[in-house]
Amino acid sequence: MADCIFCKIISGDIPSTKVYEDEYVLAFRDINPMAPTHVVIIPKRHVQSMNEFENLTEKEQLAILHACKKVAELEGIDQTGYRVVSNCGPDADQSVQHLHFHVLGGGKLSARLA
Ligand code: 5GP
Ligand code: ZN
Repeated sequence: MADCIFCKIISGDIPSTKVYEDEYVLAFRDINPMAPTHVVIIPKRHVQSMNEFENLTEKEQLAILHACKKVAELEGIDQTGYRVVSNCGPDADQSVQHLHFHVLGGGKLSARLA
């Protein structure tokens, strides 16, 4: 998708620090971390947000959730705890219009919303 920052990260046109990758997803460090560990997980195929989740195959959907858990293990925060967040649409301040999940941890998290 032209003019999508995350599609450019997938293609390598924009550099990123990769944490994990499989056939369907890419995980990389957030450029503006909100916690000691802050990793962004994206499907390699462009969909805008959770509103388009059904446009992904079941393999892609499962790969995203699996990657969240895998990233927590790789980052060593699976036992201390972490949060998985996907901002969808204006009220949630979604700033990049390519579906993504944040994995946050590595310290006590503030601003609990749910
Ligand atoms: P959102 O606000 O849409 O939930 O999350 C988008 C996230 O992408 C933000 O946390 C922001 O810091 C991150 N981000 C935006 N542009 C880039 C980039 O070029 N590289 C990386 N690594 N992260 C980015
Ligand atoms: Zn995209």
